[in-house]
Amino acid sequence: MMGNQVTQPGDISERARKLHFSSLVVDTHCDSISREVDKGQDLGTDTGEGHLDLPRIRAGNLGVQWWSCFVSAGHVPENRTMDRTIALLDALKRMCQRHPDDFEIALTAADCRRIVAEGKHAAVPCIEGGHAINDSLAALRLYHELGIRYITLSWKDVNYLIGPCNLDYSTRQPVHSTAQGLNQVQGDTRRALRYVARTGM
Ligand SMILES: [Zn+2]
Repeated sequence: MMGNQVTQPGDISERARKLHFSSLVVDTHCDSISREVDKGQDLGTDTGEGHLDLPRIRAGNLGVQWWSCFVSAGHVPENRTMDRTIALLDALKRMCQRHPDDFEIALTAADCRRIVAEGKHAAVPCIEGGHAINDSLAALRLYHELGIRYITLSWKDVNYLIGPCNLDYSTRQPVHSTAQGLNQVQGDTRRALRYVARTGM
């Protein structure tokens, strides 16, 4: 609604459609790459399920997608977070290699603009959940070298980088001193944040 004038739904839809299809459309999160690993699907084809595949990327004019390597916290007790992350990142890169006319890995904003201008979809790798580094800042640095361009500090679980200020990371038990809880996450979390800020991750 603009002022006292009621805009008809059809007008909104048509305006929105024109705006959408004349824009560089960016979506900052999807977990779909796990379907390549777990179900053997090729997201460069019509998979008929899930949220995303190439036909729907084309139909929706989705220029840039941040493709998340989502590692369930269930992998933490078995120390399987890093190999799961690598498997997902590898699947994303191989999907792009299988469909070079449709997908390309993008590592910078300039990459995204160039790839979309060439009529392809720009795939930006990222990680959901700080537990994916398996308590290792070295892993964080190497993930960046492998192409990861964002990592969320947490999914929903306490991990090496972050957690509730009243929970002890090593025991997962509540601690009584809030200051004690804060201290445990400050050191490496600060180093991690400085690293991602410096690199633009
Ligand atoms: Zn997710």
